[in-house]
Amino acid sequence: MTPALATTRDYLAWAIRDNGTVELRHQLGERWSTGWFDDLDRLVRQVDRLRDHGNLYTSLNAPKPRQVGNGMTGDPVRNDDIGWITRIPFDFDPCRPTGVSSTADELRAADERRNGLVAMLRKLDWPLPLHALSGNGYHALYRCRLPNNDETTGMFRSIYSGLAIEFGDDVVGFDRSVKNPGRIFRLYGTINRKGPATPDRPHRDSACWIPAPWRQVERRLIEDLASYYARQSAPAQTPVDGSQAGPRIEGKGDYSTLDVIGWFAAHGLYRHAIDDTTHSVWCPWRDGHSTPHGRTGAVVFLNAGRWPGFHCHHGSCAGRTIADVITLFGDADAYCRQAFQGGRAS
Ligand SMILES: [Zn+2]
Repeated sequence: MTPALATTRDYLAWAIRDNGTVELRHQLGERWSTGWFDDLDRLVRQVDRLRDHGNLYTSLNAPKPRQVGNGMTGDPVRNDDIGWITRIPFDFDPCRPTGVSSTADELRAADERRNGLVAMLRKLDWPLPLHALSGNGYHALYRCRLPNNDETTGMFRSIYSGLAIEFGDDVVGFDRSVKNPGRIFRLYGTINRKGPATPDRPHRDSACWIPAPWRQVERRLIEDLASYYARQSAPAQTPVDGSQAGPRIEGKGDYSTLDVIGWFAAHGLYRHAIDDTTHSVWCPWRDGHSTPHGRTGAVVFLNAGRWPGFHCHHGSCAGRTIADVITLFGDADAYCRQAFQGGRAS
């Protein structure tokens, strides 16, 4: 059953109900203005005064208690202003030239990708999210209620890193930056005016569909997903700069002891750490990428006691694993800390 198209007022009513106060932000060319509201009627009236020009956004999460003026005065919300995380936003944005709207085909690809994520989370007992068209991409918004603290930040980091690798590539990007607590989001029901409108790349109305009931995701489900992705990239003993690497072995190496960072560095392909276990690298096959200067790159993962992982987001590298890099470079044995001990079926 498809939920009914929600009005801007419906969406804002949920925001006030869950967050108490809401920031409305308006962009007109280079000019930005901000207002804070706790009165739904006055918020909707302000939106109606601004909606014919520029772009409108609202805050996603619940700020700490504050005095509000119910008019366009105040400062933009910062991460530190947020007391409670009440939304888990997922944003699928088609990769395309910067500053332009999406084509119909690009939107379709983003819709499919979003639906894939929602289907996976349904299997994990997550409730239905709000579905939305941002105008240029598709969103899924889950309700939750978690304190804005280091623990929640850590869980979100694991979830967004894991999902970005699983669901993002160089056709549809999974935006991992939307997890910051002070995030603002497109106000649904208003027009997304990005770049010049052309027949192929028109300005579109954003829209959202709110399920009934729109249930909160239980904390344990969020914890389970976070620990699933954290385990996939469990800490290893490998020193980040490779400088403390032990003696290199000769002959057959045990790839569960492969110093993947030192190895990529030796090939001039190491870039930087993303977190303790995930590192950005240049893809060895980058010359074959359709978008060589795209914003997505390749990563390696440290897996304690197991082979390290490799993943490139580019379509031409789909299915390539660390085993393909081992074959390509041909010198992985020399970067292992231990010789291979197991039997060989030859
Ligand atoms: Zn690649």
